[in-house]
Amino acid sequence: MKLGIVGLPNVGKSTLFNAITKAGAEAANYPFCTIEPNVGVVTVPDKRLEVLTDIYKAKKTIYTTIEFCDIAGLVKGASRGEGLGNKFLGHIREVSAIVHVVRCFENDNIVHVNGHIDPLDDIDTINTELIFADLEVLERAIAKLNKNMKTDKTLSKQIALLEKVKEWLETGKCARAIDLEDDERKIIATMDLLTYKPVIYVANVSEDEIASEDNEHVVRVAEFAATEGAGCVKICAEIEAEMADLEDEERELFLEDLGIFESGLDKLIKASYSLLNLISYLTAGEPEVRAWTITKGTKAPQAAGKIHTDFEKGFIRAETIAYDKLIECGGSLGKAREQGLIRSEGKEYVVQDGDVIHFLFNV
Ligand code: GDP
Repeated sequence: MKLGIVGLPNVGKSTLFNAITKAGAEAANYPFCTIEPNVGVVTVPDKRLEVLTDIYKAKKTIYTTIEFCDIAGLVKGASRGEGLGNKFLGHIREVSAIVHVVRCFENDNIVHVNGHIDPLDDIDTINTELIFADLEVLERAIAKLNKNMKTDKTLSKQIALLEKVKEWLETGKCARAIDLEDDERKIIATMDLLTYKPVIYVANVSEDEIASEDNEHVVRVAEFAATEGAGCVKICAEIEAEMADLEDEERELFLEDLGIFESGLDKLIKASYSLLNLISYLTAGEPEVRAWTITKGTKAPQAAGKIHTDFEKGFIRAETIAYDKLIECGGSLGKAREQGLIRSEGKEYVVQDGDVIHFLFNV
């Protein structure tokens, strides 16, 4: 899974990205400082893996990961090739979801490209560029369909749908916010529209505001996000960057001191999981304890296919126990088996978050 970080210059993207990768992408107080898209990989925190590692005395613990791609340079006019131009729109096309960082912190020393803090205006500036790019895609698609209509009359419904989305975009709203029927959604999903991608708005606040009630900027961002069915997470990028250098224990103390219990990055990862409908199932044994990411609703054979295609092809059944049940048995599979808690699931089984699974398969 790859998330793309976008936002106007000077909103805190590089600071957040540095926190994510500790890779040292340049953070400086002027626009256009980060040019090439950078990629950082973070592990998805999962306390269950730590517990299972202890129980199984596992040699390795393997977390799932999320990739963050820093897509700087998206400014007003990008869809017309201004700023760092159109190629950034191409980078956005490749990600599964967008992390849109919005400045909600006041600081007179840090230049705001528009001269004042107005998160909704900022969001609109970026979204407008993406909308322009989507309009181009739709116009091309409609023209092509109209041409093919001459020989295939069944295309008129599809053309009407694309026209409807186009008109919606022309009102300045993103495609993800439009009300569509399920079958319409399926068609629009194939169009690769930038404004149809899931988004998490990251409201970047100052250090002294992270533990207090949301300021008016954050409230407005959250309200706007809700209108689009988008996610919204309040963070302080500076704090994230400071925390990135700390060891786990130090980090927990640091968070406690601030009066918060979860880092912004962890909140962001959780929000992306939920926005993208992702869950994890687990495999556990002495060689390794590991989490695997799947989409909610994935059936056992396809979940097995995440481990190896042979597991999917030769799938026989999945010996499954919910993580909580396994812990209730003190982590003993023997005890769980005695109590009949290990289920043998077939190919129609829909894998649940936290299932600890052992797959049986033919080779
Ligand atoms: P980018 O252009 O969006 O990548 O923004 P940067 O990450 O380079 O940040 C621009 C400036 O804002 C830098 O001077 C940062 O130190 C500062 N900044 C970023 N995040 C925060 C924050 O959470 N609080 C405060 N007070 N300053 C921040």
